[in-house]
Amino acid sequence: MIKKTNILTVILLVWFMIMQTTEASDKVQIYPAKKTAFQCIDRNKDEIAKVGDAIFSFAELGMQEIETSSFCVQVLKDMGFKVESGISGFPTAVLATYGSGRPVIALHAEYDALPAGSQTAGITERQPVVEGAPGHAEGHNTGAAVMLGAAFAIKEAMDKHNLQGTLKVFGVPAEEQVLARPYFVCDGYFENVDAAFHCHVSDRLSTSYGIRQYALISVEYSFFGKTAHAASRPWQGFSALDAAKLMDIGFDVLREHLPPTHRSHSVIVDGGKQPNVVPEYARIWWYFRESTSEKATIIWQRARKIAEGAALMTGCTFEENVMATVLPTRDNQIVAETIQTNIELIGMPEWLDADQELARRIQKVAGVSETGLRTEIVPLKKATQGTSSNDSGDITWTVPHGRISFPSNISGAAFHHWTAGIAPATSIAHKDEVAGAKVMAGSVIDLLTQPELLVKAKELHKKEIGGQYKTLLPPDQKPPLELNKIEMEKYRRLMESHYYKPKVQFN
Ligand SMILES: [Zn+2]
Repeated sequence: MIKKTNILTVILLVWFMIMQTTEASDKVQIYPAKKTAFQCIDRNKDEIAKVGDAIFSFAELGMQEIETSSFCVQVLKDMGFKVESGISGFPTAVLATYGSGRPVIALHAEYDALPAGSQTAGITERQPVVEGAPGHAEGHNTGAAVMLGAAFAIKEAMDKHNLQGTLKVFGVPAEEQVLARPYFVCDGYFENVDAAFHCHVSDRLSTSYGIRQYALISVEYSFFGKTAHAASRPWQGFSALDAAKLMDIGFDVLREHLPPTHRSHSVIVDGGKQPNVVPEYARIWWYFRESTSEKATIIWQRARKIAEGAALMTGCTFEENVMATVLPTRDNQIVAETIQTNIELIGMPEWLDADQELARRIQKVAGVSETGLRTEIVPLKKATQGTSSNDSGDITWTVPHGRISFPSNISGAAFHHWTAGIAPATSIAHKDEVAGAKVMAGSVIDLLTQPELLVKAKELHKKEIGGQYKTLLPPDQKPPLELNKIEMEKYRRLMESHYYKPKVQFN
C-alpha cells in the first residue's frame, strides 16, 4: 500500500522535474560552468572596458602594435596564462595558453587600427585625437576586449568545474593587411586545435555558417628605372612612375573582361620624390579579391602580365612581392548553431536613452538613416558571401570555426571612415563587449562540456573540406616587418600623451 506522504513526494518530484525541463528549454542551458563564466564576465565588465579603451587609445597600425601587444601580454600573464609573443616571426603577435590536453579550443582577434582614422570617442564631429594619426575607425580594439574577457571567464569555469582541455588565445597583428593568420596555420599553430572562434565588431549580435568572405592576394610591384633631369634631359630617364601608372591603366582595361564578381584595388605607395627628377623607383600595391582562391589566383597571374608589359613599355624592370594571401572565410554550421544558442541566451544589451541618442547622432553625421541601435538579435542563417576579406580565412579551412559578430559599432557606420571611430570606446561598445564575451565564453564552454558537439563539428568539417586546404602563401614568404613603421613613428610621440594605460585586474 502506498502511503500518502509517498504520493506527495512523487507529485513533488514530478513537478520539480517538469519545472527543471521548462527552465532548461526556456533559458536554453545555463548550467553551472556557464553560470560561473557569465558571472565572471559581469563582475569584470569594467576591466573588459578598460582593455578595449586602452587599445583604442594606442591605435597602432598593422605590424606596429607594440603598445597593444605588450599590454595584452601583461593582462594575459596577470590572468594566469602562459604567454608567448612574437610567434611566426610577427613581433606583435601574442599566444596565450591555459590548461592541458584535449580538446584544444582557440580564440583569435585582431587589434590593429587604420591610417588617418584618429577620432575622439563619443564626439559626433570630426575631432581627431591627433591630426592625421591612425585610429580605430572600425573598432578592432573591441575584439581584443571581448576575447580577453571571454578567456578569463573560460579559465575560471575550467578551474571551478574541473573542465579538461586547453585554451589558446591568439592576439593577431595586421588584419587590415590580412597578414598573420595564414602564417600561424602554416607554422602548425592550429595542428592540434579542435575548434576555433573569432570575434569581430559589427552592428549586430549574430553568427552564420558557410562561405562568408572573399579570397585576397596582396601583391606589391616595384618598378626600377633611371633618374634624369626632368627638364633639361628627360630623354635620358626611364620613369618607374610611368610603369606604375601604366600597370594601373592596364588593369583598369582588364576589368571589363574579368567576371563581375572580382574586386581589386590599388594604391601607388611610392611614386617618386619630386617633379624635376625622373623617378627611378615606384611601387604599386594591389589587393586582388575573388570569391575563390583559384579565381583570385587567375587575376593575380593576369596582373603579373600587365606588370611585365608596363615594364617593357617604359624600359624599366620590375619585382613582385607577395605581401599576404588569404582564403575566403567559412564557418561550420555546428559551431554556428552553438554560438547562436548563446546569442539567444544573452540577447542584445539594454540600451540607455543616451546610447540610442548617441547612435542616432552618429548616423546623422554619417549620412545614413537614423534608426538607432538594434534591439533584436539576428536569427541564424547561411552566410551570404561578401566582398571583404579577413586573414582568419586559412584558419577556417583548417579547423571547425565560428565567428561571433558583436555590436560594438552602430548600424550604418561605414568602416574605415572616421564616423566608425566614434562608438568603439563608449558605453555602447562596453555593453557589447560584455555581450560578445559571454557569447564567446558560453560557446567554448558548450564545446568543452559536450564532446558530441565537437565530434559533429569535426565530422562536418571533414565532409565539407576533407584535406582540401592549401595555402596560397609562397613557401619562403616572410612577414613584412617594416610595414607601417615610418607612418607609425611619425605619430607615436604625439599620440603617447593621449595613451590610456589603466591598471587592469581581472578578478
Ligand atoms: Zn576588421
